[in-house]
Amino acid sequence: MLISIKDTAGHYQFLNRTFENLFYLRNSDVAGKTDSQVFPEHLAVLFEKLHFDVLHKKTRVELEERLSIAGQLRWFAFTSYPINDEQGSVKAVYCQALDITERKALDEQKKLTAKFFDAASEGILITDTEQKIVTVNPAFTKVTGYPAADVIGLTPRVLASGKQDAKFYESMWNTINTHGCWQGELWNRHKDGRLYLEWLTINSVRGEQGELTNYIAIFSDITLIKASQERLEHMVNHDELTNLPNRNELKGRMAQAFSRAKRQGNTVALMFIDLDNFKNINDNLGHESGDLLLQQAADRLVLCVRGEDTVARIGGDEFNVLLEDVTDASVARTAERILNQISKPYLINGQQVFTSASIGIATYPKDAEDMGALIKNADSAMYLAKENGKNSYQFFTTDLKNKINNRHALENALHKAIDANELSLVYQPEFNLLGNELIGAEALLRWTSTEHGSIPPNDFIPIAEDSDLILSIGEWVIEEIALQLNKWRKNGTPLPGTLYVNVASRQLMRQPLLSIITRQLKKYNLPARSIGIEITERTLMNGDEDITRKLHEIDMEGIPVAIDDFGTGYSSLSYLKNFPISSLKIPNQFVDGIVDDESDKGIATAIHGVSIALNMQTIAEAIETHEQLHILKEIGCHNGQGYLLGKPVDANTFAQQFIVQQTSRREATPTSR
Ligand code: C2E
Ligand code: MG
Ligand code: MG
Repeated sequence: MLISIKDTAGHYQFLNRTFENLFYLRNSDVAGKTDSQVFPEHLAVLFEKLHFDVLHKKTRVELEERLSIAGQLRWFAFTSYPINDEQGSVKAVYCQALDITERKALDEQKKLTAKFFDAASEGILITDTEQKIVTVNPAFTKVTGYPAADVIGLTPRVLASGKQDAKFYESMWNTINTHGCWQGELWNRHKDGRLYLEWLTINSVRGEQGELTNYIAIFSDITLIKASQERLEHMVNHDELTNLPNRNELKGRMAQAFSRAKRQGNTVALMFIDLDNFKNINDNLGHESGDLLLQQAADRLVLCVRGEDTVARIGGDEFNVLLEDVTDASVARTAERILNQISKPYLINGQQVFTSASIGIATYPKDAEDMGALIKNADSAMYLAKENGKNSYQFFTTDLKNKINNRHALENALHKAIDANELSLVYQPEFNLLGNELIGAEALLRWTSTEHGSIPPNDFIPIAEDSDLILSIGEWVIEEIALQLNKWRKNGTPLPGTLYVNVASRQLMRQPLLSIITRQLKKYNLPARSIGIEITERTLMNGDEDITRKLHEIDMEGIPVAIDDFGTGYSSLSYLKNFPISSLKIPNQFVDGIVDDESDKGIATAIHGVSIALNMQTIAEAIETHEQLHILKEIGCHNGQGYLLGKPVDANTFAQQFIVQQTSRREATPTSR
């Protein structure tokens, strides 16, 4: 405590030791001096004010003030009063100052705590050691509905919802008593009866001696957070359109199914389901109708399986079904049920729509032991089901596995085929059937692999067409033909009409096909008609507007376009007239049946009829017998090719057998033209 005594005029008479030490002063330094002579201004002003207050009021004056002393802020409580002589008049002024900095800080802290307690958005509840509620804050009332007065003296059990059992609370209190705190989610009941989920932290509070004094519970209502969290989780794991689990969720469930199957020694099946001709429905009826169809199909799938099975949507019109503890027979039954349900009519915007499903099935652990492989194998089996005519199911088999492996091997080998010089072309002559005159040839690709031997086009071309491989191969074919035409011209062999190349739809869509051809034509200065293209009906009908435009550009250059496999796809005749087509080809299968099968003959006749109507030419394929040739001539078919007229042969043989022969024949009988 600092003590000073001044006379009524303000001259210092005494300082105690503490005062001396705090201000580095001696009594002898200040005796007879006033505040302004001793202290810096801010202190002097304060001390003088206190002094004159006392003189004025003639009574005790108290004051708390924060002072800066030697660069430090400290709180002091001043008490000052007059010292009277025997007559009762003031003779001196006594002043003491107590350093209350610590007390002040404690007060602040208490104030802050109280403020926090009142303002916190978390509910706070404090109990005594018997768990009787001592106090609660306003947020407690907001969350629970109970005002403080309702609950003080009770235990928090008034809030219990009954959703947690005795065991839960027992373990909670165990944790609090051993670790001093507990945290977790808890369902409680609001005063109005409704349940809410809270995130709760309970701490035990101990006194200085370590004795338990209170429990403090802090909690907030997380019902809404929890709900939106659950919604979010659902969204991450489910498909928005059908509300079915998505690939993500399926993978999680597959992992669980695998480990259960491993433990119990049973089988898990994965079905890969693809809706047949969904793309057509989507294109023709619009996306909204497509979506409705998917939703209805999803509902049907769910009804076809047991509650514990998983139906997931993997994307587009692809679904996966995960079945546990199955046998081949039980999976087959489920597959039958699905085929049956999916192929029933759908009512969409008042319109009846039909689809069907192709299903591939692979089982764990027989067909694959990891998820990726199981899905892939089921997918491959599904493709086989599609090839087998759709609306069917197909188990993954070792045969299929070998096919896939073989396909991989071929694909790898095919990648190196161009550079390894393994590709070649053969030429099959095409004749005008009436005059038996050579009009050109179809160039057909051959591959003799050093690894795999000679591989038929029907085995390797689909592989190439499934990837961009067909682009480089297709380009090679065109270059090779142009090279060949140039060679013939250089050694005096007359050009053989039009050489047709087969072009895959990918080439039309992904390659500047026209400029690839015209570049070759220009390079060797060849007439446009010397190269033609054959595209399949499927390419034409795939609905891509780009293809239509590109075909028109190709036609404008004078490059003929023939339609291969006409009548085997989904041609729409009215559609056909929009394309610049020069010929339709009557496919092998109809020529094959033309002698014995009236309907094949009918189709061949119809194809020829269409080409006449649309001002095109007909080319019959695969003519093997004189009878076939005879009937085709009867029908009026313009042109033809086939083993009877000439097999596909290499360039030299072709030149010898056909071009030279034709030329000499023509020269011998100039009137036959
Ligand atoms: P495609 O274009 O329909 O070709 C006709 C197929 O019929 C050829 O089979 C040909 O050898 C065969 N053929 C010709 N005359 C007869 C006959 O009298 N009887 C029988 N039974 N068959 C006959 P190939 O050469 O095996 O070609 C198969 C398919 O591969 C072709 O069918 C074509 O789609 C495709 N292809 C061939 N070369 C190429 C090519 O360079 N590029 C593309 N993208 N596809 C090609
Ligand atoms: Mg062809
Ligand atoms: Mg053909």
